[in-house]
Amino acid sequence: MNNYRSKLNSMNLYHQCVFIAFSLVVFACGPTQSINPQQDQTTSLYEIDEENAVHRLSRGIKHQTVSLEDTAEINFEPYEEFISFLEENYPNFHQKTERKRIGEFSLLFKWEGSNPNLQPALLMGHYDVVPSSADTDSLWSYAPFGGEIREGFVWGRGALDDKSGIMSILEAVEYLSERDFQPERTFYIALHHDEEVGGVQGAQQVAAYLEEEGVELKFLVDEGLPIAEEILEGVEVPLAMIGVAEKGSVNIELTYRQDGGHSSMPPRSTVIGTLSRAVNRIERRPMKAHYSGLILETLEPLIPYMSFTQRLAFNNTWLFRGLIKRKLSRNIATNAALRTTAAKTIFEAGFKENVLPIEGRVIINFRVHPNDTIEDVRRYVRNRIDNEDINIRVLERARNPSPVSNTHAAPYQMLKRTIEESFDQALISPSLFVAASDSRHFHNLTSNIYRFRPIRATHDDRPRVHGIDERISIDNYMEMIQFQIRLIKNSAGKME
Ligand SMILES: [Zn+2]
Repeated sequence: MNNYRSKLNSMNLYHQCVFIAFSLVVFACGPTQSINPQQDQTTSLYEIDEENAVHRLSRGIKHQTVSLEDTAEINFEPYEEFISFLEENYPNFHQKTERKRIGEFSLLFKWEGSNPNLQPALLMGHYDVVPSSADTDSLWSYAPFGGEIREGFVWGRGALDDKSGIMSILEAVEYLSERDFQPERTFYIALHHDEEVGGVQGAQQVAAYLEEEGVELKFLVDEGLPIAEEILEGVEVPLAMIGVAEKGSVNIELTYRQDGGHSSMPPRSTVIGTLSRAVNRIERRPMKAHYSGLILETLEPLIPYMSFTQRLAFNNTWLFRGLIKRKLSRNIATNAALRTTAAKTIFEAGFKENVLPIEGRVIINFRVHPNDTIEDVRRYVRNRIDNEDINIRVLERARNPSPVSNTHAAPYQMLKRTIEESFDQALISPSLFVAASDSRHFHNLTSNIYRFRPIRATHDDRPRVHGIDERISIDNYMEMIQFQIRLIKNSAGKME
């Protein structure tokens, strides 16, 4: 447990996971039009055994399927136990599907459809979780791996990310197969085991396997954006955000060398000064904001709920584009949706008070907007720092942003309809996922990739993901199961 803090830190740096984007659409606003629609009235069509479903989730959370960067340090016993737990608790699911283990611990289930002419769909998620640390365990209201059912919630690691996600899928298939529902379309269900550390053994191998098999998917749904509540002050309509694209990521290293020497006769600028100036130039003028395409589609359903002056601005972008960009850039969440961001995460130089540093380095983590590329980022850095003596290096594991899924495609429309049926008061927007998900390994298999979980998220919930007191409400979990059943039914046949 002593190592947990450093492990946790290194994982946070890597940060594969989801819900940074909880706060996507909050921009400071004046008084808004007072619209208070009635409480969301979800139609409960399917009779789910709530007690059993909730207990299964609780027990699922108790399995400590913790991912660590250093695989040698992972205890895989709980992984094996979790796999057996699923087998025992979802018997119909296991009977109706064919299971393949990939990368040792990732599971790919195939639920064969009756019509081989329909392209298969893939529902996926991950069952690994980030560790909890000995330092913070005591701050939890209930033990992080206790799976406690209290106060109307199920508590513990994975309650939001992503055990509720995958187990709601399993509940749905169990429910349907128990009632002899036979889909026309083949469904694959993938449960990955290393999303939190990059998905190289899991999702990447599963995608490679499907590709080898010649599978072409109609669509896939992975974890991703939630249903955000409290989007605008005074507006109680939740906004369901479907992640139709995700950002790329590239680490750029700046290094600068200088003759060393004694600190009593320093040059005008040391390594530290020169690199600081470069960083400052990047901070002063970030990469270009893209107020076009996806961001417009994301904001569009919100416009009727904005204040008069905001509506005026958003309806007359030909005149107010600059103002809107400035406003959106001020909020860290909307800023991240608008442009490629630059986080200066590592700065190293100097080792002794009276010795001039010979070399310094800075690492900047850029999250690349879909309108930019890695090459754009490199060029921007070169031009912006305007110093040929600083060496610029693009580090390994850089990835370009994902393509943007087409919102006119039949699977998007089906998903939208499913959300409308399940959350009848919710607004729905295609959105940019600013973090990373396992879905990025599947671009060769389909162009219809959606990152979405019907988790109701308020501002209060944001720090719970990878943080303290992660929990999901029982009501919301039941909604998730209802949603997954509808999703399968709505996509089980021909869609267009
Ligand atoms: Zn996740």
